[in-house]
Amino acid sequence: MKCPVCNVGQVQPGKTTLTLENDGVKLDVQGVPPMICANCGQETVSEEVKAKILKAVQEASAGNAPGGNA
Ligand SMILES: [Zn+2]
Repeated sequence: MKCPVCNVGQVQPGKTTLTLENDGVKLDVQGVPPMICANCGQETVSEEVKAKILKAVQEASAGNAPGGNA
């Protein structure tokens, strides 16, 4: 697969840590499998992976709802 940013390099699977924020809750997601461009270094996280992570963030923030801690 070619890099969508520079259109030159080939993207290869790698690992990174993604920091997401949802409703003031910050979540570091480790071991995110992005595709990394060998030419420009652009990290591309697939929509499928993004959706999974976003769901995890939303669940995490739901668990931290105000008033939920007794
Ligand atoms: Zn590139």
